[in-house]
Amino acid sequence: AGLDPDDLSLIERRGRVLGPAYRLFYQEPLHITKGEGVWLYDGSGRKYLDAYNNVASLGHCHPKVVEAVTRQLGTLNTHTRYLHEGIVTYAESLLATMPESLGHVMFTCTGSEANDLALRVARSYTGRQGVIVTKLAYHGLTEAVAEISPSLGDFVPRGPRVRLIPAPNALFVPPAEQGAKLAADLAQAIAEMRAGGIEPAAFIVDTIFSSDGLYPDPAGFLKPAADLIRAEGGLFIADEVQPGFARTGEAFWGFQRHGLSPDLVTMGKPMGNGFPMAGVAIRPEIVSEFGAKARYFNTFGGNPVAAAAGLAVLQVIRDEGLQENAREVGGFLKQGLADLTAEREDIGHLRGAGLFLAVECVTERETNAPNAALAGHIVNHLRRNGVLISATGPGANILKIRPPLVLGRAEAQIFLDAVEMALAAA
Ligand code: PMP
Repeated sequence: AGLDPDDLSLIERRGRVLGPAYRLFYQEPLHITKGEGVWLYDGSGRKYLDAYNNVASLGHCHPKVVEAVTRQLGTLNTHTRYLHEGIVTYAESLLATMPESLGHVMFTCTGSEANDLALRVARSYTGRQGVIVTKLAYHGLTEAVAEISPSLGDFVPRGPRVRLIPAPNALFVPPAEQGAKLAADLAQAIAEMRAGGIEPAAFIVDTIFSSDGLYPDPAGFLKPAADLIRAEGGLFIADEVQPGFARTGEAFWGFQRHGLSPDLVTMGKPMGNGFPMAGVAIRPEIVSEFGAKARYFNTFGGNPVAAAAGLAVLQVIRDEGLQENAREVGGFLKQGLADLTAEREDIGHLRGAGLFLAVECVTERETNAPNAALAGHIVNHLRRNGVLISATGPGANILKIRPPLVLGRAEAQIFLDAVEMALAAA
């Protein structure tokens, strides 16, 4: 519609060279040229409140990360086969945020690679092949992890060694029964897998179930399922790509909210605040044989610049109290959304932890039937008013709100005012 001719031509050039697999957000795509804190700017200087970005978790272009990366990039950047202080200091600092049992960390460049490595290690340690995941999970893009990412749709084949279970859903299962229900579903999947002659190597979950539709509560419900997979000789892998690094406000890692200690933890996205880095934390005994046999080398993973970025991120989260801020401002945002939507028949369940919230757009509360049109209206109305979020879930009706952790109260109020206008216009 109101698109700039230059942007129209850029869209055309983009399609020509990038091909058909790439997607743009919004009916009117955004052309962003600069980011600072919670704000993104287009070429005309118009600013947008970024309420969707969990990569730039400390805010876009955080000066401490920019400084650390720039300094290290101007000094040395090479692989991990020379001695370097950076990777060791960073690994020590990172592991200090986790249970003591997770004694090693291995570095990759993307979350996909981290999950791919975690699967290889888990299969090698257990000598088994089976993996159980939730129905709309996303764990990444390599062939091995696409196989355990059913949110990619039926186009991506899911072999016999992968079984799906429903994500915990507080809409249909009472909170007190979530833990038992998830464990029972897992038990059934394990039994079905075994009936086909496949033994379970691992149960892997995004500990906040982002692509399934965001299911954080009640904290603790994951524990029985994690205990069960271990009792059955498999491993529990926590995918912390989304909830990790203080996003939930209540804990530094999503699994900590559930009072459990995973066998492997994968992480990525906000780890370098935009610098591409990811990794896997592992119980040492699980990787000892793998490590002896499978020489691990990742050209870019854990390089000195990544280590500098990662260390700066950990320091900023601590020094700026971002976990507390996520809890505090996240609570304010959640209450504000609850107030705005209390009287609306077309807004259903509101849930979330810290600065990761989901709002269900429904045709009526009674049935909770998805209302993708309303979600689409709100997302695009907000975008026109300079606020960025997205919609997710199987019915494309769940608003996903996930701002940088530095979001302040004043900015949260700007967000709420924009939501109020979008709702009024619906
Ligand atoms: N796991 C989860 C839970 C994710 O959300 C994502 C990315 N959306 C990944 C893994 C894959 O990470 P990456 O895109 O860095 O490969």
